[in-house]
Amino acid sequence: MEISLDVPFVLRVLSEERALAQREIRELGVLRAYENSRERHDARIAAAPDVGTLACRSGCTWCCHFSVDVRAVEVFGILDFVERTLTPEEKARVFSEIRANSARLKDMDDMERMRHNVKCPFLSAGRCSIYTARPQTCRNYHATDAAGCQASYEDPENLEIDPEFAPLVFQSGGAHVDAFTRAMREQGYDTNVYELNSALAAALSDPRSRDRFEAKSAPFKKLPGDDVPGEFEDLDA
Ligand code: SF4
Repeated sequence: MEISLDVPFVLRVLSEERALAQREIRELGVLRAYENSRERHDARIAAAPDVGTLACRSGCTWCCHFSVDVRAVEVFGILDFVERTLTPEEKARVFSEIRANSARLKDMDDMERMRHNVKCPFLSAGRCSIYTARPQTCRNYHATDAAGCQASYEDPENLEIDPEFAPLVFQSGGAHVDAFTRAMREQGYDTNVYELNSALAAALSDPRSRDRFEAKSAPFKKLPGDDVPGEFEDLDA
């Protein structure tokens, strides 16, 4: 779907979030700053002028079988949330699914992963069990007609299916993530993108990965990451 870019709107989001993120990362540390940024992210999307056009509803889970990318800060934020909120039984189930998914996906590249449906380990009884801490990709994924998401789920090989989305929700959420990512990169933190299950499995198998991340070195020694530029980062150069 082609959209017309609202440049002043995107620039405002980039500049507001970048300034706040820069300050909070310095003053609170990167993980605490990210928790605050998550809350602003939700508020920003809820305030987007076209948010009322979204078809996304609680219990609709087609997209929870699609490939999810994350950055290290999200991985450690998720693991903190899991520690605080999930029961030991639920935690054991989630960790076992993470390891099984990671083994299944490990030899696939991005394109191949997109051609396979893999149930997210956090999807439980039709709900996201880490909703407050869900990845930025999940926060930004949305559609104005769930039929497109269903069609993509039913025919994962067909990468031409592109569910209709809300342009200002897309620009608002995308610019928010780009601004926080840029603030992290400017302060020397890893901003590589990793596949959700593989990154979680790497963090679980090596508890020192978090220390490395907080010390501004590569968190996941054996996991290839990809420092892709954000959709809107160039606008704020
Ligand atoms: S983290 Fe939550 S919202 Fe994201 S794919 Fe998993 S269950 Fe769905």
